[in-house]
Parts: sequence; structure tokens; C-alpha cells
Amino acid sequence: MARLVMKFGGTSVADIERIRNVARHVKREVDAGHDVAVVVSAMAGVTNQLVAWCRDAAPLHDAREYDAVVASGEQVTAGLLAITLEGMGVNARSWQGWQLPIHTDNAHGAARVLDVNGAELIRRFKEMKQTAVIAGFQGIHKETNRITTLGRGGSDTSAVAVAAAIGAERCDIYTDVDGVYTTDPRVAPKARRLDKIAFEEMLEMASLGAKVMHVRSIELGMVHNVRIFVRSSFEKPEDINPRANFTGTLICDEAEIVEQQVVTGIAFSKDEAQISVRSVPDRPGVAAAIFGPLAESNVNVDMIVQNVSPDGSTTDLTFTVPATDYERARITIEKAKGAIGYDRLDGATDVAKVSVIGIGMRSHAGVAAQAFKALAEQKINIRAITTSEIKFSVLIDAAHTDQAVRTLHTLYGLDKS
Ligand code: ASP
Ligand code: MG
Repeated sequence: MARLVMKFGGTSVADIERIRNVARHVKREVDAGHDVAVVVSAMAGVTNQLVAWCRDAAPLHDAREYDAVVASGEQVTAGLLAITLEGMGVNARSWQGWQLPIHTDNAHGAARVLDVNGAELIRRFKEMKQTAVIAGFQGIHKETNRITTLGRGGSDTSAVAVAAAIGAERCDIYTDVDGVYTTDPRVAPKARRLDKIAFEEMLEMASLGAKVMHVRSIELGMVHNVRIFVRSSFEKPEDINPRANFTGTLICDEAEIVEQQVVTGIAFSKDEAQISVRSVPDRPGVAAAIFGPLAESNVNVDMIVQNVSPDGSTTDLTFTVPATDYERARITIEKAKGAIGYDRLDGATDVAKVSVIGIGMRSHAGVAAQAFKALAEQKINIRAITTSEIKFSVLIDAAHTDQAVRTLHTLYGLDKS
């Protein structure tokens, strides 16, 4: 019989009534003969509350104790779901990260999964037909024996890691949307749900602003080739036939996608800031003088544009950073002014990055050029551009974000008919 992982996020387990609804989804799959491992998040809002309490207790607190506190939310929902399943006659047992165990590194608060032991789960599937209910988001660091957490939104990653460990046929992510869309439907009402999207594309979509899934869960899915299915937890459990085709988006290997479009989706992010360093000397070592100190200050630099020097001696260098790093980046550059030698620093936080993503770009030329023309026709000015094999991004004024997204969505034939 096929093995399945079913993951439910915070809104899907927000209260006992919804946990019952989740249990009915699980029972449906168990009754259809599947071996099921369920991964749950904390009830909606609980993790935020736990984080707030840690900050309240001491603004600067030990990350190991933060993890001890915030991991508790998932412990509660795992136990409650196991109780509910048992009440419905489904043999179920809850598991915390340390019990399996789910081993992670010791980066408390943002730990990486190293390996998951699925042997005991598999034994119980075979010998007792027992359903596993696993607390997401948490693991254990073996050497120190301390509880760790995987970073906000990390239950997705737990689910994919468990799926890889038990060799699941599919990892179903039940969430409050019914799949992955070509772009955010609140911005572009003509956005379509995708039937399939390749791991690499989804990785770009998630990294570049689409908030459907934890970025690391997709990396992990790609490495272990775990097929991930994003679907709605609000569909009535009774209305779903576990053997038929159901609604959602499959994130899978590109080989599984027959009809590949050139462009698959459009992501955007308003959490960007731009910094321009004016009149820096145009000589070797200047980029190192700017980006070295930024790296040391842990500022993540994204797009970089260096202008051609008009006079052969000085040039302007523009780059973007996350809006949250903006002040730190400015201070870092100002401190390094002596070593860099520049004239002026300009910055803007009212900017947005719009990205066009599609594996088909590998084999099609001129995809980005079409966008530049279309944006120009809308009188939208492009401040910076970056490209890679399967995507390109433009930096524009934040005020034009929605218009730019809709323009590009139509341009690449993504509008639903
Ligand atoms: N409960 C954790 C959070 O809110 C993990 C998750 O839901 O994925 O970030
Ligand atoms: Mg989530």
C-alpha cells in the first residue's frame, strides 16, 4: 500500500472543531488503505504568542531556550490530533522531533534537518497499521541533546523530510489555498492555479516572494525527489475521493511536466530596499571594499548594478538588500567610506522586485526583452535588472507593483480565459 505524508498548517488545526476536520481527512486516506504519517503545525497564532513571551521575558534570550518554548505549540496539536483519531477508531500515536528522532544541526531557531529516522514508523505501519502524528517544526541536536526548531514556517520542511525518510509516494501539504497560482490572485484576479510546477521553479517562486511554502522544504523535496502536492484543507473530507483526481498543485521533477510553458509564474516582493553609492573610484578592489563589509555585517545583497564609468575614473554602484537590513547596510557603507572613497549615498525603500520565472527560459531567447518593452509602454521605469537561467527580476517603484505584475501576467499568456 502507498505511503502518504499529510501536513496541516496552523489555520487547519486552529481549534478542536478543525482538528476533527483534519482527522476526517486522515481517516479517509487510512480507510483507502494508505499508510499515513501526519505532520502538524501549532494552532494558528500560538507560535506568535510563544515568540512574544520569549521576547517579553528577556529581549536578548538564549536561542536554546527559545526553541524549548516555541517547539511546544506543535507538541500540543500532535497530541490532540492523535486523541481525536483514536476517538474515531483510527490507531494513532503522536511523535515529537526527538522521539523519531529528527536530527538537525545546532543552528537554534533556524536549524537544518540532517536526517530523519523513519524505521519505527515503517515498522508500526506494517505490524500494527498505526498512523503516525508528528509534531512539525522541531528536531533535536544529537551532540547536545537539545530541542531545535527549523525557523518560522518550518513544518513544511518537517513534512518533506519525513516523506523522504519513509519513502512516501507523495507529501500532501494541506493549506488555506487550493494550490500554487501563476501569481497572487489578490493582485492579478486572472491568476490561474497551476496543475504542476517544477521544483526549481517553485524554489524561485518561494524565494522571490510567493509565500505558499517554506523555501527549505522545496530544496529538500528537490534533493530527495519528494513529490509535493499543495491542496486545500477546507474542502470537505467527505467530498474527496482518495482514488480520483483531486484539486491542487503538484510540485515535481520537470521530467513529469509534459506541457512546459516558457513562463510559469510571476513573483514579487515589496520588502526590498535600494542603495546607490555615487562616484566611487572605478578601479579593481572597489566592489570588494563595498560588499566585503556588508557580508561581515550579515547583510544579504541581492541585485547589483554597476554603471559604465562616464569619465573613466568614477562610477555609480547600485544594489538591493532586504528592507529589514536597509539601515544596517547604510551604516556599514558609511563606516567604510574611507576605504571605498565615494561621493554620496542614495537610498530608497519604496521599491519592489518583480520576477518572472520559467524553466522554458533556458531554451527561449528574448523573454526578458519582451518584458522591458511592455513595462516601458506602461511608463514603468526599471531601476535594476538581474537574470539567471530560469528567471529574471526587475526593480521598480513599489507604487507600480500591481500594474507591472498584471502587465507581465498578460504578456506571457498566463491569464485564465
Ligand atoms: N508553527 C510554526 C510557525 O508558525 C511552524 C509552522 O507553522 O510551519 O512558524
Ligand atoms: Mg506555513
